[in-house]
Order: sequence, then structure tokens, then C-alpha cells
Amino acid sequence: MIKIFKFGGASIQDAQHIQKVATILEATATEKVVVVVSAIAKTTNALEKVVDAHLEGNTDEAMQLLTTIHGQHIGIAEQLFSPESVPVALLQDMEMYVGEVEWTLQDGVKKDYDYEYDQIIAIGEILASLLVSYYISYKKINTKWLDVRDVLKTDFTYRKAKVNWEWTSKEVTTRVTALLANASCIVTQGFIASNDENCTTTLGREGSDYTSSILGYCLDAASVTIWKDVPGVLNADPKKYPNALVIPQLSYQEAMELTYYGATVIHPKTLQPIYNKNIPLYVKCFLDTSLPGTIIADTLPHLTHSAYIEKNKQILLSIAPKDFSFIVEDNISAIFHYLHQYKINVNIVENSALKCAVCIDDTRNLSALLHTLSSKYKVWYNENLMLYTIYNYTEESVQDILQKHPKTLLRQQNRKVFQLVTVTNP
Ligand code: ASP
Ligand code: MG
Repeated sequence: MIKIFKFGGASIQDAQHIQKVATILEATATEKVVVVVSAIAKTTNALEKVVDAHLEGNTDEAMQLLTTIHGQHIGIAEQLFSPESVPVALLQDMEMYVGEVEWTLQDGVKKDYDYEYDQIIAIGEILASLLVSYYISYKKINTKWLDVRDVLKTDFTYRKAKVNWEWTSKEVTTRVTALLANASCIVTQGFIASNDENCTTTLGREGSDYTSSILGYCLDAASVTIWKDVPGVLNADPKKYPNALVIPQLSYQEAMELTYYGATVIHPKTLQPIYNKNIPLYVKCFLDTSLPGTIIADTLPHLTHSAYIEKNKQILLSIAPKDFSFIVEDNISAIFHYLHQYKINVNIVENSALKCAVCIDDTRNLSALLHTLSSKYKVWYNENLMLYTIYNYTEESVQDILQKHPKTLLRQQNRKVFQLVTVTNP
């Protein structure tokens, strides 16, 4: 049986961390493991600056920023292997893939932002996976590197691509199985994919977790493990709540709901594919592998505590028909059509007689949406808000939060979930 291990940016942030990855893999010696890595910490954000410079026509600046990122990866390679013994093939591979991005930059802007973004941003995952792959091979783990774009196929929705399951399943099963016949470990990338014109697409920010579950699904994996720098799934952000508790076990449904409300420990799309095949998901602590972590599986609901989830960078957008007509089905349908068109995530909807309010993630498409909506509707919004969710709330926990956040703009609750939208720093 195959296991999938996913290491995020924080788990491969420097040479020491990559060495730790090798130690974890050494402990799995007799098993077949597919390793999915995302870009090294902060790289994707740095690459977004390259994208911006490119779209603004500042080719020199974009090239320079890219060179810096390339240099940082060479620096890590030198620490992993010592400067004299970095494998030449590793340096050549890195140079070749960086070279492709350089062409993209020099070629000028060919299509829209989303397309250009995906062609550039993918280099973060490629470089990280090359470093990990070469290093663990050097550590005598029988490894093959795989460009996931050869097997993970999507539609043309750049930056939020939808998986073509039929095609992907076929490619993953044949190619990965063939590679694993002669290797114990495959290292590949999260987050990136390609469409049927072989252009790079991406699955949405933080999408590497999702890749690990797509591969798990296609390979009928025994399990998927996400290695994090926290001891498991916690019931609150430990940076803000020092008493946060590790939740030892969750049902798929509970975990899906928590991620939907903004728990950042796992990407929201991750659970569905593995739920369909009943593959357990482990969230394990990278720093202390002896900790039990969290298991997410097909069990009855387990969460007995309240879970507290904060989602920042929220906008509360209010939309009212200009002619004072009621907000009814046709308006609602038109408004949601635009939200969908501009790829905007809606976290809460509140409908009243003359107005529809939606709490949405802040996005660069907001101004375009406002522009479109404002021809028919009166629109206004509050920004820099926080969406606060208590899952399994108690009266006490609600009172506590209301006291801490007296300035709430919107409140909703059902039997299990209490939510409020509030200014970020009360
Ligand atoms: N590197 C990508 C990001 O930062 C994907 C990921 O981390 O999962 O969004
Ligand atoms: Mg990440």
C-alpha cells in the first residue's frame, strides 16, 4: 500500500528542516511513499511580487526578484550538501526550470493576470521538490522525482483550477505505479497542475494539501499524512489561545466544517476526495514525530469542545437594488452569478427586504465586482473585518466573545455554529 506524505512550506523552510524530512522518510523504509511538497516558506509570496512586476511591465525588476529566489534555493542546496558537493545535476535542473520562467518574463505579458500568475508561481514548488528529491536520494532513499503537471490535469481556470478526475486518475495510476515499481519514494509538487494545452494551472493558495488528497484518492492510498509545525488540529489558534487543545480524532464531516469556517490547518478541499474512499488523514507534528497528532476518519462526531476560528481580511458587502425593489430570487441569482464570475468566496449571506449582505474574502477582484454591480445596485462595504466562528458553541463562549467584540456588524447562529463579523481590532 502507498502512503502520501505532505510537507508544507514551514516544514522545508531551511536545510535543517529538509534534513528532518529525510529522517522521517528513513523511518518508513519498507513502505512506498509519495511525498508532496509545497514551495519553501515565503517563496510563493515572493513570487507574487515577480508576477506583479511582470504585469506592470517591469521586466528587469521581475528578473532580479526571480534571481534572488533562485539564489536562496542554491543557498539551501549548499547548506544541505556543503558548497563543493552540491550535485551538478541539481543545479542544472534548477537552472533549466528557472530559465523557463525567465523566458516567460522576457516574452512580456501574453494573457491575463491569472494565466501569467500560474506560469510564474509554479517555480516555487518545482525548486522545493528538486531540493528535497536530490537530498533524500543522497541519503540513499530510492527516490524518483515527478513533475506533477504530467499527471494532475485540470480545466483552464487559472489560479483556481478544477481537477479533471478521469484524466488525472488514469495518468496517476499508470505513471506513479510504474515509477514506484523501481523506487520506494516519489517526490512531487503540491498546488500546481496543467491543462490540456500543457499550460501550468494552480489549485488555489495553500492548495498543496489538496494535491496530496487527489493523489491519495487516485492511488487508493492507505493514508494521507500532513506534516505540520503544530501538534495536530487544535481547537483554537495557539498563538492567541495558549490553552488551545489538540483534538485527537475528528470525523470527516467535522473536519470539513472546521476548514470551511476558516480553520487553516488543512486546505478546505482536502477532505472530500479521501472521504469518498474512506482514506484516513493524519495531521502529525513535524517537530516531534512521537506525538500522536490528529486522525480524521470515518467515525461518529468526536469533537466535544468548542472550536474557535478566526478568519481575517473579510469584507462585508451590502447590495441593494437602486430602484428600491425587494431583494428577491432574480436579484439574488444575479448577485451570486457575479460573485462566482469574479471567483469571490462568500462566507456568510444575510438577506433582508431591501438589501443583501455578503461577507467575502478580500480579493483583488473586488473593484471589478463593485464596478459591475454598481450599474444596477447600490453597493457599499466595510473592510478589514474578521469573521469569528464558534463551532459547538456554548452560551458561555458566546457571551465571552460578544464581550470581547462589542462592535459586531453581523451575527448568525444555528444549533451548532455561532458566527459574527466584527472589526479586526476591537
Ligand atoms: N505554495 C503555495 C502557497 O503558498 C501552495 C501551498 O503552500 O500549499 O499558497
Ligand atoms: Mg503553504
